Amino acid sequence: MEGAAVLGRLNWLEAEVVEIRPETSQTKTIGFEVPGWPGHRAGQHVDVRLTAEDGYQAERTYSIASAVDDSRIELTVERLDDGEVSPYLTDELRPGDTIELRGPVGGYFVWDPHAQGTVFLVGGGSGVVPLMAMARQRAAEGSKIPTRLLYSARTWDDVIYRDELTRLAAGDAGLDLVYTLTRAQPPGWEGYGRRVDLELLAEVAPAPAVLAVAFVCGPTPFVEAVASGLVQLGHVPARVKTERFGPTGG
Ligand SMILES: Cc1cc2nc3c(=O)[nH]c(=O)nc-3n(C[C@H](O)[C@H](O)[C@H](O)COP(=O)(O)OP(=O)(O)OC[C@H]3O[C@@H](n4cnc5c(N)ncnc54)[C@H](O)[C@@H]3O)c2cc1C
Repeated sequence: MEGAAVLGRLNWLEAEVVEIRPETSQTKTIGFEVPGWPGHRAGQHVDVRLTAEDGYQAERTYSIASAVDDSRIELTVERLDDGEVSPYLTDELRPGDTIELRGPVGGYFVWDPHAQGTVFLVGGGSGVVPLMAMARQRAAEGSKIPTRLLYSARTWDDVIYRDELTRLAAGDAGLDLVYTLTRAQPPGWEGYGRRVDLELLAEVAPAPAVLAVAFVCGPTPFVEAVASGLVQLGHVPARVKTERFGPTGG
């Protein structure tokens, strides 16, 4: 069976759009039914391939946002106004349309249900997507692994999954949410209001002695700043796992 799963990973699969939900003004979650989907682990991603009528193809990578759920997966895509693929996915796709997907890809940036200690999730912008899959997987399993999410967004309205995160944390003493809003903060805001820097990390990161693993995801400069900050604070590099979405935040 393992061979079949490996083979499945190499094949392009037809994925039918079954649901589209706006998350913020720039992001949408797209649910797909993928017959033959081999299953995934929280944190993995897929390759998406679009083919135009003239045969032109474009491929991009998107993290899986959903917890493990048979043949259905969800992606959350941020629209980059000058991008090639993301405006198509967020503006043009309709339920019933099909695209091609290949995956799941990645075996390193994945939720470990046996982690010992505190798991630290650090997301910048749409970098929260694979971290949300982990938070959802944790909830689905009823896991008690202490988990802290530090989420950096531009404004409160740019916080993806805001209501669901609030709900998850309200019902679960083991899940902490810490936000930093880098561009504007609502009146009475009590969270952080600046980019993630060493001082902020020193306040929010679990101590090296209790950290099981940190998952850091977002635009390349964000990931590099956070990962090097954690190492400066005494964390072992091998416990700081990173995923870079690209240079611009896309
Ligand atoms: C592992 C992984 C997981 C990811 N997961 C997600 C996810 O969950 N959600 C999500 O929204 N994104 C995710 N991404 C990012 C995604 O793959 C795309 O990069 C993103 O959607 C932008 O694609 P696009 O075609 O819209 O933009 P592109 O057309 O690729 O353009 C991207 C940016 O680069 C600029 N650009 C393009 N070409 C050039 C050039 N020649 N010179 C200079 N600048 C240029 C554009 O102006 C634009 O701002 C992930 C990336 C990786 C690697």
